[in-house]
Amino acid sequence: MNTIFIDQKEILKRYKYIDKQTHKGIQGHALLIGGSYGKIGSVCLSSKAALKTGCGLVTAFVPKCGYEIVQISIPEVMVLTDVQEKFISNITFEIVPQAIGIGPGIGQERYTQKALHDFLKINTAPLVMDADALNILSLNKSWLSLLAPKTIITPHPKELERLIGTWKSEEEKFEKTKLFSKQYNLIVVMKGAPTHTIDGETIYENSTGNAALATAGSGDVLTGMITSLLAQSYEPVNAAILGVYLHGLTADIALPETGYQSFIASNVIENIGKAYL
Ligand code: AMP
Ligand code: MG
Repeated sequence: MNTIFIDQKEILKRYKYIDKQTHKGIQGHALLIGGSYGKIGSVCLSSKAALKTGCGLVTAFVPKCGYEIVQISIPEVMVLTDVQEKFISNITFEIVPQAIGIGPGIGQERYTQKALHDFLKINTAPLVMDADALNILSLNKSWLSLLAPKTIITPHPKELERLIGTWKSEEEKFEKTKLFSKQYNLIVVMKGAPTHTIDGETIYENSTGNAALATAGSGDVLTGMITSLLAQSYEPVNAAILGVYLHGLTADIALPETGYQSFIASNVIENIGKAYL
């Protein structure tokens, strides 16, 4: 297997500088779909992270109970709501986003599962899938064939295990993930310490991040960051690599101030600007 170590030099090869003539309409519109009663915060984190990573517009699609929460938490984010109060049941919208991130806080309600299935059948936008969207796929493995080529999935180790089955060694984990990536033509962000992104035969090993990231909502923020980069027209594999690198770098920057213990997912969002510098 071909392994590429992702350091600053590799990032600068992939990074696209902002065009000074740009405006919000061409800077990319990201749509974040997720949330359920008691878990609207996850979509707030993803949506805010998407904005702070540089796309021009962000819309959140949440159950009705999330409407005021998102509007008040992040005034810059537009909000669309499902017909249901507490969970997502029917994903329909009239906007045309350049990228979609789905899964944070979405839950596994029966109607949400059906909504995900119907969405996957018709979606044409570049896609990031995370959290319970992945767990729903694990419960319905035949739906994996609905995923468009180069869909990005961002499982943590447990979510990965539900998708590909258990492994007896690190070597077997990589082998199984590579086969899975090739079989479904997916980009798999294997979150961990460090995170490895697998695109078929190639493994990209990330060099940033630390244990401060082991905190609630950390993965939701990563989903928003990668979705934002996809919306800004990065190739899917580069959106994944750059998102993972910047996400880790925020924790490295913040560590001297917060320590491991008091770093929270919002600190990732606060430090994205410094990671870009
Ligand atoms: P999630 O479990 O979905 O919230 O995602 C956790 C995020 O934090 C992933 O991006 C992990 O790679 C990262 N993370 C968790 N623990 C560590 C660690 N000990 N060192 C570095 N990164 C970590
Ligand atoms: Mg997660």
